Amino acid sequence: MKEYVRQLPPIHEMQKDNRFQQLVSTYKLHHELVTELIQNQIQQVRSNLLNGNFNGPSTAKTEFIDLLFTHVENDCIRISEYYLQPVINATGTVLHTNLGRARLSEKAIEQVVNVARNYSNLEYNLSSGKRGSRHDIIEELIINVTGAEAAMVVNNNAAAVYLILRALAKDKNVIVSRGQLVEIGGSFRVSSIMEESGANLIEIGTTNKTHLYDYENAIDENTAMIMKVHTSNFKTIGFTKTVESDELVSLTKKNDGVIFYEDLGSGSLFDFKGNSIGDEPVVADIIDQGVDIVSFSGDKLLGGPQAGIIAGKKILIDKLKKHQLARVLRVDKMTFAALEATLKAYLQDTEKIISIPTVRDILLTPETIKERANQFVAKMNEATIGFECEVTEDFSQVGGGTMPEVLLPTYVVTLHKNGQSADTIATLLRQSKPSVITRIKNEQIILDFRTIMEDESATLISILKNL
Ligand SMILES: *Cc1c(COP(=O)(O)O)cnc(C)c1O
Repeated sequence: MKEYVRQLPPIHEMQKDNRFQQLVSTYKLHHELVTELIQNQIQQVRSNLLNGNFNGPSTAKTEFIDLLFTHVENDCIRISEYYLQPVINATGTVLHTNLGRARLSEKAIEQVVNVARNYSNLEYNLSSGKRGSRHDIIEELIINVTGAEAAMVVNNNAAAVYLILRALAKDKNVIVSRGQLVEIGGSFRVSSIMEESGANLIEIGTTNKTHLYDYENAIDENTAMIMKVHTSNFKTIGFTKTVESDELVSLTKKNDGVIFYEDLGSGSLFDFKGNSIGDEPVVADIIDQGVDIVSFSGDKLLGGPQAGIIAGKKILIDKLKKHQLARVLRVDKMTFAALEATLKAYLQDTEKIISIPTVRDILLTPETIKERANQFVAKMNEATIGFECEVTEDFSQVGGGTMPEVLLPTYVVTLHKNGQSADTIATLLRQSKPSVITRIKNEQIILDFRTIMEDESATLISILKNL
């Protein structure tokens, strides 16, 4: 293969080719960029030749040039298109961590566009005409929906945990039950974030059992905080014991200066439990029990943008707001816009709350989903595109590491085509435009209509037609 390296065209020869100018004008890219893409491709082919990894069609010079232009054109297409693009989530998992978690409500989207397009009073107090604080945008709203004394927002819940530990417990002890030292999504570990914050982790109890006396015995003059972490993404069952929040509230009240903090993870503002879905506590109930400070995500059960919401005693929140890290972890106006619009729905009745897609989709009844699935199958049959479809019962998940034990009854359409494996169809669907992300079960493609909207359903049919 090595002798073929000499057949590789020099860059100036490629630049003189008509196709060079064509790429520049078609994709409206700089000459320099297209030149660089060519250079990279030449280098790639050269190293493949030298390593014996070259599996191109031929090794004559003109064929090298053709091959290189094909590769470079693919690079140009990739660069010109958006990397981030909408996908159709046919998995039924409402808060799919890999697919952007919560979809925003129409009101939230409108408000983001409005604030992005125009100047806004982000840090300007319109009544006094003086500089304002971005904390003011959302504090009253969070107070109203949670019942807390004060509140603030940071970049995500991981940032909230970090800020709380760093600002309120650095160089001091934080007591956590061993059963709650969780890892979430592979990159967030309570123990690691604690170490990073400079707080000392005091582990108590065992994996399955922690008693009130374990907490009592661990408290000493270096204790800053008792931290309770919601084990969002797993469940311990069987011989278990955790200490309830109200008991920890009483304990910390008896020990002056010890803060009780709950990392709620999902932080539901809607009573899913009251609708027979899971046993996720409502944030307002936790605050009502007298917990000093809580934090939770904006884009899990709440159904808003990525954010970390901190709510609790004013004296603690004031400390956090003044901390240098608050500036480091602060959120952008677009996040505030989406969060404000999302939270406002929670001030109103259930009808308004289900304008939030996350809440709506978790509450969807199997009957509604079945109707969607049936309509899809009817249209598929009309279109006669060679797929066998069948509507069957199945379960969807909430996702996002929330309510892992909850199985939401749903209806799915199984897709089957003679001579094509489920893997092949799944790959084709994933690579279509828009991309469709499916589940495979028993060698069949599954489309869960909990997360497929009506307009997406029509798109899906035309994608399947062209597959
Ligand atoms: C999800 C979760 C986090 C991290 O929240 P992000 O908003 O994803 O940063 C932290 N703690 C718990 C208990 C969680 O469930």
